[in-house]
Amino acid sequence: MAKKTALDLVVIGAGPGGYTAALRAAELGLRTALVERCSQLGGTCLRVGCIPSKTLLSSTEAYVYARDRLSQNGIAAKGFEIDLPRLQAHKEAVVEKLAKGIAFLMRQNGVHVWEGTARIAGPQAVAVELAEGKEILETRAILLATGSEPAQLPFLPFDGRLVVDSTEALSFREVPKRLLIIGAGAIGLELGSVWGRLGSEIVVVELLPRIAAGFSPIVAKALQRELEKQRMQFLLGARVTGAEIGEAAVTVRVEEGGKERTLAAERVLVAVGRRPHYADLALTEAGIRLTGSGRVAVDRFWQTSLPSIYAIGDLIEGPMLAHRAQAEGRAVAELLAGRPARVRYRNIPNVIYTEPEVASVGFSEEDLRAARHPYRRGTAYFQANGRALAADAPNGFVTVWMDEPSGKLAGLEIVGNRASELIGAGVVALETEATIESLAQAVPAHPSLMETVHEAMLAALSERRSGGS
Ligand SMILES: Cc1cc2nc3c(=O)[nH]c(=O)nc-3n(C[C@H](O)[C@H](O)[C@H](O)COP(=O)(O)OP(=O)(O)OC[C@H]3O[C@@H](n4cnc5c(N)ncnc54)[C@H](O)[C@@H]3O)c2cc1C
Repeated sequence: MAKKTALDLVVIGAGPGGYTAALRAAELGLRTALVERCSQLGGTCLRVGCIPSKTLLSSTEAYVYARDRLSQNGIAAKGFEIDLPRLQAHKEAVVEKLAKGIAFLMRQNGVHVWEGTARIAGPQAVAVELAEGKEILETRAILLATGSEPAQLPFLPFDGRLVVDSTEALSFREVPKRLLIIGAGAIGLELGSVWGRLGSEIVVVELLPRIAAGFSPIVAKALQRELEKQRMQFLLGARVTGAEIGEAAVTVRVEEGGKERTLAAERVLVAVGRRPHYADLALTEAGIRLTGSGRVAVDRFWQTSLPSIYAIGDLIEGPMLAHRAQAEGRAVAELLAGRPARVRYRNIPNVIYTEPEVASVGFSEEDLRAARHPYRRGTAYFQANGRALAADAPNGFVTVWMDEPSGKLAGLEIVGNRASELIGAGVVALETEATIESLAQAVPAHPSLMETVHEAMLAALSERRSGGS
């Protein structure tokens, strides 16, 4: 006789991947439970990632603008003060409000939320350690969405005091005089921007010869130039080889171009990447296979080596992005409800929320060249955009690539104010496979930053064929 299961789906981890999956599954009529070890729902993204970092970035950007630039436009404000406890309280209030919103959605849609640490107890069973004991949940399917945690350097382990990870660097109670950041990716550059704006001297050490890996060299160079104007210092192609932790400062040894030098700082933020988090799940005991790089191996339907167990988000291969995790969560819920689903990974945008922001989606010029694929390029600059000048944000540009001979948009890259919003136009165009000709028919409002995206498309249409064969 078949075993009767109480639930259709148990989701482990209430980050953007997990809570999105749980919500969609419940909407589709699946009996769903969500297990989260933290009292606050939302995962890394909401608690210690996307949202707190963007809250600090927004406030500090406004502060620097008002302090340094607004008086040139005829509005002289005096007496700016940094009230760090209040800034941190504002950040926490934003997080709390959103976390409550997620809890409300779960209740409203009948998702039972268990606060506890989950472990796989069988292909169709999850054991949950609760404050008041243990519960076994029997289920048709399990979705692993336990995310990731900061990676450490073996010779510079986090001590929560002087050598910190991103979670601690979001919650400094004092502005460090000098902050050394190891890693020039999104997290390092965003947190460097926050503390640099508040007065820290920022030095970023990066192993690669460039910042912002994942973006084109042109975008990376443009961003570096702008961040250097904001007094961020970069040591590129430099390897941190060791460190001495003192009472109140850390001295880091850095090898650069065959020479070794030392750098002292009050705090060191190690932002060298994140690794999947599955310590409590008992994956290997359950027989779930990992990839060569230690993430959970899944097929194109996000099924692990055990067919009833699925995995998504930071736990599996691919860029660690909240919106990717959400797309996968939604897709798994659809599949479990017997509906078709897919995620087009090429159309997932990538953003760094510095000033200026940088954003990209689709194929890059390097991809198109490497594939010897014919394309046309169009670039337009914000310095010719009335809205950008009116908003004091003339830096940056938009580049689009048009696939030939189809005429469809192939990719888009933006450096500039609100690039994170503008890139949405490219995402929609790629997902709907729109041609640049048809996109150029769409009239953007005047004045608006979208006009520069439009101009780049017009430039691609009028450009002679370039690249490829
Ligand atoms: C500082 C910072 C800034 C970021 N900014 C952005 C950004 O701007 N945009 C973007 O797209 N991405 C950003 N990210 C990345 C983003 O946060 C992650 O990609 C995203 O949170 C991954 O979602 P997830 O659902 O896979 O896992 P997570 O969000 O990591 O959630 C996993 C959840 O599982 C829970 N859990 C783990 N093990 C168990 C267990 N055994 N039992 C029960 N619960 C468990 C954890 O407590 C956690 O709540 C940022 C990350 C950081 C650190």
